[in-house]
Amino acid sequence: MTPEDQLHCEIAIIGGGLSGLIACNVLVSAGIDAHIFEAANRLGGRIKSTRDQHTGKYLADLGPTWVWPEYQPIAARWLKALNIQTYHQYDQGDAIIDMGANQSPMRQFLLGQHGIARIIGGPQNLIDQLAKNIGPDNIHCDYQINQIIRSNDRMFLHSANNISKPIDSNKIIVAAPLRIMEQTINWNDLLDQAATNIMQSAPTWMATQAKAVIIYKTPFWRELGLSGRIASQFGPLFEAHDHCGPDGSPAALFGFLGPSQQANKPDEIKSNIIQQLVRCFGNKAADFEKIELMNWESDNLICSDQDRQTPPAHPELLPDHIRSDYCDGRLLFAVAETATQSPGLIEGAIEAGERMAKRVLGA
Ligand SMILES: Cc1cc2nc3c(=O)[nH]c(=O)nc-3n(C[C@H](O)[C@H](O)[C@H](O)COP(=O)(O)OP(=O)(O)OC[C@H]3O[C@@H](n4cnc5c(N)ncnc54)[C@H](O)[C@@H]3O)c2cc1C
Repeated sequence: MTPEDQLHCEIAIIGGGLSGLIACNVLVSAGIDAHIFEAANRLGGRIKSTRDQHTGKYLADLGPTWVWPEYQPIAARWLKALNIQTYHQYDQGDAIIDMGANQSPMRQFLLGQHGIARIIGGPQNLIDQLAKNIGPDNIHCDYQINQIIRSNDRMFLHSANNISKPIDSNKIIVAAPLRIMEQTINWNDLLDQAATNIMQSAPTWMATQAKAVIIYKTPFWRELGLSGRIASQFGPLFEAHDHCGPDGSPAALFGFLGPSQQANKPDEIKSNIIQQLVRCFGNKAADFEKIELMNWESDNLICSDQDRQTPPAHPELLPDHIRSDYCDGRLLFAVAETATQSPGLIEGAIEAGERMAKRVLGA
């Protein structure tokens, strides 16, 4: 193969989610020729939004929603640097305790979380700003890496289709879920058994969750003195929250679907959700503008077979070994689960991406 048949770069980053974009942003800002290779046809990974079909404007989050800037200094610093504002999660008024189909729901005040915040424009805003800073020439979507080969001081990445060129790089940062990476990449013995074990054992945070967002003309529940929060043992939403923009517009609710619902057909799930919202908030809940579901379990670039087969577990700090250098410093891991702070969360994705980019820079 001639050099013209390859894509050459200093640093190849596998995964165009938040951690990969942060790493790439740090490196490109320092003048390094870093490139992102993302398997999906969009950036963001677990960060995904629904948008207005006419204007393309951000409406609601199908992935993460909350940050806690008071307790998450790294996320707070990046939000400030990117000039992205946050606002407090709406929690005024009573919550609804949903007792099930044939019982009246109960109003009850539930204390909100201190410091819980929403990002204006959603976490999608972070993704869009970072991608803009990096520039389109260094971002390659529809590029699924499935093999890594080391040849002396070069690292070669091969993609799953024959159309994308093989990549020749100095170093690789892996910013994709560890279980997916362990299962879908041929590592050609580049990893030791300890690393493989950690990768297999690390659940991908929220990978098996399913979310629903429901868009309304107005936040009518607020006029009823309700916070928009639902706690339910019956579902289909076992937990729901107000999901409006900072001034109440767009008006929206979001909720997490219980596992028993996920096997149903989307239309059936949507109709069950609206029935539940009518039960909890009254007839106005039937007058929605848009309802959208996202079942992360069916995303094979995020959710692995092991994630599907094991109960979801809160992310724990992984052993230091996963944060060490492999292949004489040519291979590093930076996905959110490898973070030293808030592993699995937005804060973790930023911390891990930034830390590994700085290590590459020798800082
Ligand atoms: C429903 C849900 C709710 C959440 N709520 C919150 C919240 O409120 N607050 C919070 O802090 N966090 C929350 N999270 C977690 C948060 O989304 C993650 O911490 C963060 O998005 C992880 O970013 P990442 O870049 O590390 O990984 P990912 O977003 O998983 O990105 C990895 C990328 O790698 C790509 N990829 C996979 N395989 C390959 C391959 N072979 N080649 C190339 N690319 C590949 C994937 O397509 C993906 O784009 C939530 C997650 C979900 C799903």
